[in-house]
Amino acid sequence: MALLVQKFGGTSVADAERMRAVADHVVRTVRRGNQVVVVISAMGKETDELLRLAREVSGTHPGREMDMLVTAGERKATALLCMAIADLGVEAESFTGSQAGFLTDSTHMNAKITEVRPDRIREALAAGRVPVVGGAQGVSPERNVTFLGRGGSDTTAVAIAHALGADSCELYTDVSGVFTSDPRIVPDARKMDHVSFDELLEMTANGCPKPAMRSVEFARNHGVELHVRSAFTWEAGTLVTKEDHDMEQAIVSAVVHDADEAKVTIAGVADRPGIAAKYCRALADADINVDLIVQNTSADGVTDISFTVPHGDLARAIEICQAQAAEIGARSVTGEPAIARVSVVGAGMKSHPGVAATVFETLAANDINIEMIATSAIRVSCVVAEREVERAVVALHDAFGLADGPVYVD
Ligand code: ASP
Ligand code: MG
Repeated sequence: MALLVQKFGGTSVADAERMRAVADHVVRTVRRGNQVVVVISAMGKETDELLRLAREVSGTHPGREMDMLVTAGERKATALLCMAIADLGVEAESFTGSQAGFLTDSTHMNAKITEVRPDRIREALAAGRVPVVGGAQGVSPERNVTFLGRGGSDTTAVAIAHALGADSCELYTDVSGVFTSDPRIVPDARKMDHVSFDELLEMTANGCPKPAMRSVEFARNHGVELHVRSAFTWEAGTLVTKEDHDMEQAIVSAVVHDADEAKVTIAGVADRPGIAAKYCRALADADINVDLIVQNTSADGVTDISFTVPHGDLARAIEICQAQAAEIGARSVTGEPAIARVSVVGAGMKSHPGVAATVFETLAANDINIEMIATSAIRVSCVVAEREVERAVVALHDAFGLADGPVYVD
């Protein structure tokens, strides 16, 4: 008998028919002799709808009340799914995050899990019931309801799988797994049978929207194997496991992109110790995440610095840097919103030279200018004009032959 965590995303439970289809799948899994813990998201676009309502009703959004509001979506879904499961002759029991034992810090709208005490979940399982847990929620030390943030249900699933020592954590979604590229942009993108935690983490950090990056990080840190799969076709999806050094490693596994990027350039700053520290600290204090920093070698003691920030933070980042301009001797601070990042990810590039060269050659052959470059051990990223990024993704996916299957390190 295996213990499985099955997490269903919003589209998987968007309406009554989908709820019943999910209940049917859960009950079949139970009837095959497994124990199942379900984690569920809010139905369809309900979280967006609740956030919209908050904006419509009031301009005051205290964290405590926002969390109470937003987590109502998942709470509603848990009760409905339990009813649908009961219809099929299996007992189910709904749990809020707090009841399921999710203790968090007090950061409303983005709470971090500090501990999971799943006593009541174990009791339900022992009594032969299917626990259905509301995703993305917990309880703070002050005993307030907390929300783990957008995409937080994935993290709930991984955390409960870890706490219970589950045999598998299945993340059901509206696509059939993790793809070599966004299939909406690259029609011949291929579903991967397998991807390593490290690769998927690089992918999610560089624009791959699902699963939520935090959940992949948690899964990697605690060795929770994931199975990303479809709640529409129910076919086998993508297994996410730690890198197996006995297995062949794909040189390149995927091409991902992120258009939610903007560039800030500080021109003519003095090239002396402490400049980068200064503006980066000011940005960090404003909670702005700076990424991909490029500084030129200086000519005559002055240099230019460029870095990227999320789109939504561009105006504030420029303001903050302008406020620093006099102190760091900067000539100008400019922003460029219409940029995007394209990244090639693959565990095998660690030991296989030439990936960066192929990336640059491919972009050059397509007349796409590279504005910035960054690499990690298993990733090459280029910042390009936003209007070129989809072309870049298609060209790179093709250049590495990803539609035909992985090319392994020999
Ligand atoms: N429903 C929430 C969201 O849309 C949390 C989740 O399902 O992961 O972000
Ligand atoms: Mg952009």
